[in-house]
Amino acid sequence: MHTLVIDHPLVAHKMSRLRREETSSATFRLLTEELVTLLAYEATRGLEVGEVAITTPVSPTTGREMSQPLPLVVPIMRAGLGMLNGMVRLMPTAEVGFLGLVRDEESLTASIYADRLPDDIHNRQVFVLDPMLATGGTLIAAIDILLERGAKDVIAICLLAAPEGLARLEQAYGDRAENVTLVIAGLDERLNEKGYIVPGLGDAGDRLYGTV
Ligand code: URA
Repeated sequence: MHTLVIDHPLVAHKMSRLRREETSSATFRLLTEELVTLLAYEATRGLEVGEVAITTPVSPTTGREMSQPLPLVVPIMRAGLGMLNGMVRLMPTAEVGFLGLVRDEESLTASIYADRLPDDIHNRQVFVLDPMLATGGTLIAAIDILLERGAKDVIAICLLAAPEGLARLEQAYGDRAENVTLVIAGLDERLNEKGYIVPGLGDAGDRLYGTV
């Protein structure tokens, strides 16, 4: 597994605005989309492209465009939905599938309540969107499903990670360097006793959708 922590002044600025408790849901949504677009630029570095013959207004030439099968973007509901626009703004032709996973607040284990993936994801590059890598349970459940169904590469994009979640992910996919990549805007200090990332930003779903 590869981990990329995006160290960029614009990402740092927007993350700080996102974390502030006084940031409204409207601003939180906007910042989330902008951050995902910035992270997606790095996360798509390994995107598969193939040569195509094109003609410019001046002459024929060879260009490079996204190869088939097109990449698949999978937001994990509910909070991952807030990241979708920022991702498809950069890759409007990508296909989108959905996974609904819910975390039991006592056991902190994840279970699936919705599976709307395309029938065939064999050989696809899949971008999974989930803002918070806390214990890692939800993300590992999602990545396992995608790899079991034949995804070629899984690139997970998260805003924040806790060291505990990162360690679990490394334990699960440490020997799959070619298949699993994690792209994050920041690695925080720890998880608290309720499973929240510290200092974090609170409950990402509540902050996105105004149900605090
Ligand atoms: N999920 C969240 O939304 N926030 C956390 O801090 C941890 C998990």
